[in-house]
Amino acid sequence: MVVGKPFLTVEQIQKKNRELAARISADYRGKDLLAVGILKGAFIFFSDLVRLIQVPLTIDFLIASSYMKTETSGEIRLHYNIRENIADKDVLLVEDIVDTGITLNYLRERILNEEPRSLRICTFLDKKERREVDVPIDYVGFEIPNEFVVGYGLDYDNRFRNLPYISVFKKTA
Ligand code: 5GP
Repeated sequence: MVVGKPFLTVEQIQKKNRELAARISADYRGKDLLAVGILKGAFIFFSDLVRLIQVPLTIDFLIASSYMKTETSGEIRLHYNIRENIADKDVLLVEDIVDTGITLNYLRERILNEEPRSLRICTFLDKKERREVDVPIDYVGFEIPNEFVVGYGLDYDNRFRNLPYISVFKKTA
């Protein structure tokens, strides 16, 4: 297993997070923002982002999994759902990475069924060329090519999440 040098550095990540948070802060002024982090992958991005957002907010989490190692199973399991009443909330769903879009589409539909006042989606990384389900994304950190990446919350087999930067992961024989 090989983790290469940073593909996105700490500095690039911090700069992008400030830009995203500025846009989100402007868009949610006067609204009732509920930021929902999708665990486990988004835990670091989410905690960095919410600390940079300049409007009052509440937080909650979802725990979902769809991935077996580097292969998607295409099946989503929800291990923890939002506990807050979302009926009068402006929900911002925060994801680490969108690949096929299957996970996010599933979560989006579930949340929309509960009729929040509004729902937007923010993802740190977007592998747009891999998309199978067209899911609307409002805030994208970085569009990246079709490589398996780890670090900054993203894992391979639950490892490498603590790398402070994003790296391309290669599996060696
Ligand atoms: P999707 O349902 O969009 O195909 O997959 C989304 C999920 O797959 C992400 O939340 C993440 O857990 C996982 N995933 C997709 N691409 C990558 C990647 O390059 N690296 C890692 N660590 N996880 C990925």
